[in-house]
Amino acid sequence: MKVVLAVHGGAGRRAVNQETYVTIKNVLEQALLEGFRVYKSGSSLDMVVAAIEVLENSGIFNAGIGSTVDASGSISMDAGLMFRGKAGAVACVRYPKNPIKLARFVLERTEHVIIAGGAADKLARKIGLEPHPGPLQRVLELYSNVIIRLRRGERVESPFQKSLETWLSLGDTVGAVSIDRDGILAAGVSTGGVFLKMPGRVGDSAIPGAGFYANECGAAIATGIGEYILLTHATLKIVEEMCNGAIPSDAVKKILNIVTNRFGSNTAGFIALDNKGRVAGLYNTEMMPWGYISEEGNVKILGI
Ligand code: ASP
Repeated sequence: MKVVLAVHGGAGRRAVNQETYVTIKNVLEQALLEGFRVYKSGSSLDMVVAAIEVLENSGIFNAGIGSTVDASGSISMDAGLMFRGKAGAVACVRYPKNPIKLARFVLERTEHVIIAGGAADKLARKIGLEPHPGPLQRVLELYSNVIIRLRRGERVESPFQKSLETWLSLGDTVGAVSIDRDGILAAGVSTGGVFLKMPGRVGDSAIPGAGFYANECGAAIATGIGEYILLTHATLKIVEEMCNGAIPSDAVKKILNIVTNRFGSNTAGFIALDNKGRVAGLYNTEMMPWGYISEEGNVKILGI
């Protein structure tokens, strides 16, 4: 079986009830089918963007509409793409509803790799991208609860640990890898980042080689604590392993082990796809909803 597209909804520790399970499964399936619709006529870049747009618009993951907030209560999102030796990414953006579309603009229409902050928001406005409607009610409620506890003088562990705990109970980052009919691979990710991160923080999802990477051997995407993924150059290493002949599952296993040994469990998850359409998704968290679609259109959802 040759896999042509794989997606994920983030690595985390969510208590999934039947209803949530069905919602996650449906949205992942919808993203795979949307990407596959493009497979017949488009490139792997088109497929990845189409799939990620569905995930960003779903509101159930920590990306696009469902993005979480930073310590100041504002959203700031990162997204990145890699295709045909080029990368395009945006960091700390607030304006676009779909940061992945802005990342695509950077990749295709500029010589740059990353555009950040206010200037990236201005660019999004200028090219006519739809604005983000602002954080969802459930995200704001979670934020106020934490702030109320802090004001009451309640102990909220270290900000980073707390961020992790709370963030893990929400939906997570999204990503996609794909291969098109010409055998060209693409990788893309989009995130609201870690809950209660310091304003201005940039995670792995904006950095090629950390949150995403693709070349002629394979494509890989990451989810989890961005700082750890950045410090290990995780997706670059996974793809390098595949270039050295490793199958995706061995490549991911090796790098996930490095992350786990260095930073502990509950820290990361990865998906890798090689140029033969072999796929692997592994994580050291309790779950990472992910799935793939084959060139015959068969869908499989795993990790929940
Ligand atoms: N990797 C993302 C970040 O650190 C978060 C995630 O994967 O959920 O910004």
